[in-house]
Amino acid sequence: MSEIEPGKKWQIATVTSVRKESPRVKLFALNLAETTPHRAGQYYDIRLTAPDGYQTQRSYSVSSSVVHSDSIELAIELINDGEVSSYFHDVVSSGDQIEVRGPIGGHFTLSPNYSKPVLLIAGGSGIAPIMSMIRSKRDAANASPTALLFSFRTEADFLFRSELVDQVKTNVGFHLLPVVTRTAARENSSGILSFGRINRDSILSAIVSLTGNAGSPASGYPQSLPARAYVCGGSGFVEAMGNHLLDIGMGLHDIRTERFGP
Ligand SMILES: Cc1cc2nc3c(=O)[nH]c(=O)nc-3n(C[C@H](O)[C@H](O)[C@H](O)COP(=O)(O)OP(=O)(O)OC[C@H]3O[C@@H](n4cnc5c(N)ncnc54)[C@H](O)[C@@H]3O)c2cc1C
Repeated sequence: MSEIEPGKKWQIATVTSVRKESPRVKLFALNLAETTPHRAGQYYDIRLTAPDGYQTQRSYSVSSSVVHSDSIELAIELINDGEVSSYFHDVVSSGDQIEVRGPIGGHFTLSPNYSKPVLLIAGGSGIAPIMSMIRSKRDAANASPTALLFSFRTEADFLFRSELVDQVKTNVGFHLLPVVTRTAARENSSGILSFGRINRDSILSAIVSLTGNAGSPASGYPQSLPARAYVCGGSGFVEAMGNHLLDIGMGLHDIRTERFGP
């Protein structure tokens, strides 16, 4: 009988902690019996089986660093009436066992040692795989230029806030540009946030912080571009960001995307 490739085999993981990161996102730490080192950006499939045998599965990105691969962290957003995300939010607790398969995915991955400028763009829970990229680069002591444009609804939805702000303080190569979409939140903001939606201008500002090159103001095109961009979030968000990046002049093969939902 042939061996099943690592990543394609289902195994039982134990939930070792559950933590509320925001009103809609919980972080789940899972301990894996059989570990296959993941690459930053990869995901796991989760399979739930009801007592009557009904099964359903969904994918969740690893948000933890590649350094800690015997235990992985998943950041799961509660989707209203969502079958699997509500099960995780309402039922799953520390000590539970969950069926998982992974790590999966090849294109949407970033090596912790990648040394060229990288632009990361996340919408909401789309920060999960990007957080793995940021944490893995940090753990590899790689301070190469990295800019994160992070869009979320309200200030309370600013996931991994203190860790990201710490990164800015300790890593000169890391630039954080958080963008809040619900502008009503503006009054109580703490100063590092901007408001509205990520658009061509905010992407250009991120590129300037990354490459230190303003380009030609007349043309609106930067002189130097990031070597790669990674975009993750809902489909509409990913499509809009991809179009901006193409329009700014990035090549299709340098834009890597992951879509979470409709
Ligand atoms: C490669 C990959 C990685 C992923 N990583 C993550 C992750 O790290 N964290 C995470 O929270 N999710 C992630 N997702 C999304 C996740 O797999 C589920 O789709 C999501 O949790 C919804 O599943 P559900 O069973 O709760 O909802 P479902 O029962 O499948 O759907 C309920 C309703 O919600 C809508 N819906 C489904 N997904 C979304 C969404 N993301 N946003 C808004 N509406 C939605 C559906 O159209 C449907 O109407 C990832 C998806 C992929 C493909």
